[in-house]
Amino acid sequence: MPNKDYIISTLNLVPDDIENFNIVRKGETFYSYITLKDRHPSCPICGSASRCKGFVDFTFQTMPINSFDHYVVWHRRRYICKDPDCHYSFRETNCFTPGSLHFSFSLLNQVAKDIANLHFTYKDIAEKNNISIGSVEIYSDSFLNVPRLVLPENMGIDELYSDMAKYGSSYLCVMVDNTERNLFEILPSRSKHELIKYFEKIPVEERNKVKFITMDLWDPYRDVARKFLPNAKICADGYHVVEQLSQRFTRLRVDIMNQFEHGSSAYYLLKNWH
Ligand SMILES: [Zn+2]
Repeated sequence: MPNKDYIISTLNLVPDDIENFNIVRKGETFYSYITLKDRHPSCPICGSASRCKGFVDFTFQTMPINSFDHYVVWHRRRYICKDPDCHYSFRETNCFTPGSLHFSFSLLNQVAKDIANLHFTYKDIAEKNNISIGSVEIYSDSFLNVPRLVLPENMGIDELYSDMAKYGSSYLCVMVDNTERNLFEILPSRSKHELIKYFEKIPVEERNKVKFITMDLWDPYRDVARKFLPNAKICADGYHVVEQLSQRFTRLRVDIMNQFEHGSSAYYLLKNWH
């Protein structure tokens, strides 16, 4: 059986906090049953003494043990205020999980470290920690706040086809620092609405410092840049200009080719243009 003191320490407890602790293995899952010592908390409403009026089980998942799932079943006390005018009911303070989430702080701490590793996908993290991909996503969206990077003076905006795009879009919007040649922002959609939502949160002084913005020919980029980056010169980036020119030349070549008789030398030469 796993070491109890070790498990207790991963739950941010010391042995003196424990009234009863028992661990059992059922198949490939461990269950720890915990009752904490009664600390006789005061009523959070009126400050009077309280008494325990029973227990309710709160189950949560914590760090795996030798890759086996590990659940903690906490016999959580319910209290009632002794003041007859108050009689407020409340439960023992939850020191194991954030809010009503059924994952321990230690498990979520590991998930947070894994999310910081750019080599891991959400699927990798879910499998590593024996939790669902949805749980990793909920945790990441609800509790992790990655600070926004400052807009660079010379930025580029483009889209990337991805099944991670949201709000009905098939494309993520990616923004790069053209000088440093690195990525500084990804938005879940390239829609005008999403772009406006992003830029209107950025202080005007910061937006005014953007001198150049490169982009393709997607109109919303142009509209949003004109409105929110008034000092930026809008430049069509080289790749898209060449791509557009290439498409137009191809169209022109095919149009001319079709004016010649099929099988003629002119038709043949134009058809095999490289
Ligand atoms: Zn009370």
